Amino acid sequence: LNFLELGMEEVFNDALTRYGITTPSPVQEETIPLMLAGRDIIAQSQTGSGKTLAYLLPILQKIDPQRKQMQALILAPTQELAMQIVRESERYGEECGITTLGLIGGAAIKRQVEKLKRHPHIAVGTPGRINELINMRKLKMHEVNTIVVDEVDQVLGLGGGADVQRIIKSARRDRQLVFLSATVNDQIRSVAQRDMQDPAVVGI
Ligand code: AMP
Repeated sequence: LNFLELGMEEVFNDALTRYGITTPSPVQEETIPLMLAGRDIIAQSQTGSGKTLAYLLPILQKIDPQRKQMQALILAPTQELAMQIVRESERYGEECGITTLGLIGGAAIKRQVEKLKRHPHIAVGTPGRINELINMRKLKMHEVNTIVVDEVDQVLGLGGGADVQRIIKSARRDRQLVFLSATVNDQIRSVAQRDMQDPAVVGI
Protein backbone atom coordinates (compact mmCIF):
# COMPACT_ATOMS: atom_id res chain seq x y z
CA LEU A 1 0.00 0.00 0.00
CA ASN A 2 1.23 3.53 -0.73
CA PHE A 3 0.07 7.06 0.06
CA LEU A 4 -1.78 7.42 -3.28
CA GLU A 5 -3.87 4.36 -2.46
CA LEU A 6 -4.77 5.96 0.87
CA GLY A 7 -6.21 8.91 -1.03
CA MET A 8 -3.29 11.33 -0.98
CA GLU A 9 -2.59 13.41 -4.08
CA GLU A 10 0.56 13.18 -6.21
CA VAL A 11 2.01 16.45 -4.98
CA PHE A 12 2.18 15.16 -1.40
CA ASN A 13 3.28 11.70 -2.45
CA ASP A 14 6.14 13.26 -4.43
CA ALA A 15 7.18 15.43 -1.48
CA LEU A 16 7.13 12.42 0.84
CA THR A 17 9.26 10.43 -1.61
CA ARG A 18 11.81 13.24 -1.67
CA TYR A 19 12.17 12.81 2.10
CA GLY A 20 12.49 9.05 1.75
CA ILE A 21 8.97 8.28 2.98
CA THR A 22 7.33 5.79 0.62
CA THR A 23 5.41 3.29 2.76
CA PRO A 24 2.68 4.44 5.16
CA SER A 25 3.10 3.35 8.77
CA PRO A 26 0.21 1.41 10.39
CA VAL A 27 -1.28 4.49 12.10
CA GLN A 28 -1.09 6.41 8.80
CA GLU A 29 -2.76 3.55 6.93
CA GLU A 30 -5.70 3.63 9.30
CA THR A 31 -5.96 7.34 10.01
CA ILE A 32 -5.43 9.03 6.62
CA PRO A 33 -8.54 7.61 4.86
CA LEU A 34 -10.70 8.32 7.94
CA MET A 35 -9.45 11.89 8.13
CA LEU A 36 -10.00 12.47 4.42
CA ALA A 37 -13.55 11.17 4.92
CA GLY A 38 -14.08 13.81 7.59
CA ARG A 39 -14.52 11.45 10.54
CA ASP A 40 -13.91 12.31 14.18
CA ILE A 41 -11.10 10.04 15.39
CA ILE A 42 -9.43 8.76 18.54
CA ALA A 43 -6.05 7.29 17.56
CA GLN A 44 -3.85 5.47 20.02
CA SER A 45 -0.28 6.01 18.85
CA GLN A 46 3.21 6.39 20.28
CA THR A 47 5.86 8.94 19.37
CA GLY A 48 7.85 7.55 16.45
CA SER A 49 4.83 5.79 14.93
CA GLY A 50 4.44 8.45 12.24
CA LYS A 51 1.43 9.96 14.04
CA THR A 52 2.25 13.54 13.01
CA LEU A 53 2.00 12.88 9.28
CA ALA A 54 -1.07 10.69 9.89
CA TYR A 55 -3.10 13.83 10.65
CA LEU A 56 -0.98 16.48 8.96
CA LEU A 57 -1.11 15.10 5.42
CA PRO A 58 -4.94 14.97 5.24
CA ILE A 59 -5.14 18.44 6.80
CA LEU A 60 -2.78 19.83 4.14
CA GLN A 61 -4.71 18.12 1.34
CA LYS A 62 -8.05 19.51 2.51
CA ILE A 63 -6.86 23.09 2.87
CA ASP A 64 -7.79 25.54 0.15
CA PRO A 65 -4.64 27.70 -0.18
CA GLN A 66 -6.62 30.34 -2.09
CA ARG A 67 -8.78 31.08 0.93
CA LYS A 68 -6.88 33.33 3.28
CA GLN A 69 -8.47 31.89 6.42
CA MET A 70 -7.42 29.71 9.33
CA GLN A 71 -8.69 26.29 8.29
CA ALA A 72 -7.06 23.91 10.77
CA LEU A 73 -5.90 24.05 14.37
CA ILE A 74 -3.44 21.65 16.03
CA LEU A 75 -2.96 21.60 19.81
CA ALA A 76 0.08 20.08 21.53
CA PRO A 77 1.09 19.78 25.20
CA THR A 78 4.55 21.36 24.89
CA GLN A 79 6.20 24.20 23.01
CA GLU A 80 8.84 21.81 21.64
CA LEU A 81 6.29 19.44 20.15
CA ALA A 82 4.27 22.34 18.73
CA MET A 83 7.30 23.76 16.93
CA GLN A 84 8.25 20.30 15.64
CA ILE A 85 4.76 20.03 14.11
CA VAL A 86 5.12 23.52 12.59
CA ARG A 87 8.33 22.45 10.86
CA GLU A 88 6.74 19.26 9.51
CA SER A 89 3.72 21.23 8.27
CA GLU A 90 5.90 23.81 6.53
CA ARG A 91 7.99 21.10 4.91
CA TYR A 92 5.01 19.45 3.19
CA GLY A 93 2.72 22.47 2.80
CA GLU A 94 5.09 25.06 1.41
CA GLU A 95 4.97 24.08 -2.26
CA CYS A 96 1.17 24.22 -2.21
CA GLY A 97 1.31 27.70 -0.71
CA ILE A 98 0.00 26.57 2.66
CA THR A 99 1.20 28.67 5.59
CA THR A 100 1.57 27.48 9.18
CA LEU A 101 1.95 29.58 12.32
CA GLY A 102 3.24 28.41 15.69
CA LEU A 103 1.44 29.93 18.68
CA ILE A 104 3.24 28.87 21.84
CA GLY A 105 3.10 30.24 25.35
CA GLY A 106 6.77 31.13 25.65
CA ALA A 107 6.83 33.57 22.73
CA ALA A 108 5.76 37.24 22.50
CA ILE A 109 2.00 37.45 21.97
CA LYS A 110 2.28 40.77 20.16
CA ARG A 111 4.31 39.25 17.34
CA GLN A 112 1.86 36.37 17.13
CA VAL A 113 -1.02 38.84 16.77
CA GLU A 114 0.86 40.56 13.93
CA LYS A 115 1.48 37.26 12.17
CA LEU A 116 -2.18 36.27 12.51
CA LYS A 117 -3.08 39.34 10.43
CA ARG A 118 -1.40 37.60 7.46
CA HIS A 119 -4.03 34.83 7.74
CA PRO A 120 -2.05 31.61 8.01
CA HIS A 121 -3.97 28.47 6.98
CA ILE A 122 -2.88 26.35 9.96
CA ALA A 123 -2.13 27.25 13.57
CA VAL A 124 -0.18 24.93 15.86
CA GLY A 125 0.14 25.74 19.53
CA THR A 126 -0.30 25.13 23.20
CA PRO A 127 -3.89 25.33 24.49
CA GLY A 128 -3.40 28.25 26.91
CA ARG A 129 -1.98 30.62 24.31
CA ILE A 130 -4.42 29.56 21.59
CA ASN A 131 -7.33 30.14 23.96
CA GLU A 132 -5.94 33.54 24.90
CA LEU A 133 -5.74 34.58 21.24
CA ILE A 134 -9.30 33.38 20.60
CA ASN A 135 -10.52 35.43 23.57
CA MET A 136 -8.68 38.48 22.23
CA ARG A 137 -10.56 37.86 18.95
CA LYS A 138 -7.23 37.73 17.11
CA LEU A 139 -7.61 34.09 16.15
CA LYS A 140 -10.82 33.51 14.18
CA MET A 141 -12.33 30.05 14.49
CA HIS A 142 -15.32 30.28 12.13
CA GLU A 143 -13.51 28.78 9.10
CA VAL A 144 -11.65 26.08 11.07
CA ASN A 145 -12.69 22.70 9.65
CA THR A 146 -10.38 20.44 11.65
CA ILE A 147 -9.10 20.50 15.24
CA VAL A 148 -6.39 18.00 16.23
CA VAL A 149 -5.22 17.48 19.81
CA ASP A 150 -1.88 15.67 19.71
CA GLU A 151 -0.80 13.83 22.88
CA VAL A 152 -4.23 14.59 24.32
CA ASP A 153 -3.42 12.47 27.40
CA GLN A 154 -0.62 14.92 28.26
CA VAL A 155 -2.67 18.00 27.35
CA LEU A 156 -5.42 16.93 29.75
CA GLY A 157 -2.89 15.79 32.36
CA LEU A 158 -1.25 19.22 32.35
CA GLY A 159 -4.61 20.77 33.22
CA GLY A 160 -5.35 21.85 29.66
CA GLY A 161 -8.84 20.33 29.64
CA ALA A 162 -10.68 23.59 30.27
CA ASP A 163 -8.74 25.38 27.52
CA VAL A 164 -9.35 22.52 25.08
CA GLN A 165 -13.06 22.58 25.86
CA ARG A 166 -13.29 26.35 25.28
CA ILE A 167 -11.34 26.07 22.02
CA ILE A 168 -13.59 23.27 20.73
CA LYS A 169 -16.69 25.22 21.75
CA SER A 170 -15.51 28.28 19.83
CA ALA A 171 -15.42 26.29 16.56
CA ARG A 172 -18.31 25.35 14.32
CA ARG A 173 -20.40 22.38 15.39
CA ASP A 174 -19.63 20.46 12.19
CA ARG A 175 -15.83 20.68 12.54
CA GLN A 176 -13.79 17.50 12.50
CA LEU A 177 -12.17 16.63 15.86
CA VAL A 178 -9.19 14.27 16.16
CA PHE A 179 -7.37 13.07 19.30
CA LEU A 180 -4.01 11.28 19.35
CA SER A 181 -2.80 9.68 22.53
CA ALA A 182 -0.30 7.11 23.82
CA THR A 183 -2.99 5.74 26.12
CA VAL A 184 -6.74 6.12 25.93
CA ASN A 185 -8.17 6.64 29.41
CA ASP A 186 -11.62 7.48 30.80
CA GLN A 187 -10.93 11.22 30.76
CA ILE A 188 -10.25 11.11 27.01
CA ARG A 189 -13.30 8.91 26.40
CA SER A 190 -15.53 11.33 28.29
CA VAL A 191 -14.28 14.38 26.37
CA ALA A 192 -14.75 12.41 23.14
CA GLN A 193 -18.27 11.45 24.15
CA ARG A 194 -19.08 15.07 24.86
CA ASP A 195 -17.53 16.64 21.74
CA MET A 196 -17.21 13.99 19.02
CA GLN A 197 -19.77 12.49 16.69
CA ASP A 198 -19.52 8.72 16.21
CA PRO A 199 -15.71 8.72 16.56
CA ALA A 200 -13.64 6.11 14.74
CA VAL A 201 -11.18 4.41 17.10
CA VAL A 202 -7.79 3.53 15.65
CA GLY A 203 -4.89 1.48 16.93
CA ILE A 204 -6.54 -0.24 19.87
P1 AMP B 1 6.23 10.89 14.64
O1 AMP B 1 5.74 9.57 15.18
O2 AMP B 1 5.17 11.67 13.99
O3 AMP B 1 6.96 11.68 15.71
O4 AMP B 1 7.31 10.59 13.47
C1 AMP B 1 8.59 10.06 13.72
C2 AMP B 1 9.50 10.17 12.49
O5 AMP B 1 9.17 9.21 11.50
C3 AMP B 1 9.50 11.51 11.79
O6 AMP B 1 10.84 11.93 11.62
C4 AMP B 1 8.88 11.25 10.43
O7 AMP B 1 9.45 12.04 9.43
C5 AMP B 1 9.18 9.78 10.21
N1 AMP B 1 8.11 9.11 9.42
C6 AMP B 1 6.79 9.37 9.48
N2 AMP B 1 6.09 8.55 8.69
C7 AMP B 1 6.98 7.72 8.11
C8 AMP B 1 6.88 6.64 7.17
N3 AMP B 1 5.68 6.26 6.69
N4 AMP B 1 8.03 6.02 6.78
C9 AMP B 1 9.22 6.41 7.27
N5 AMP B 1 9.39 7.42 8.15
C10 AMP B 1 8.30 8.08 8.58
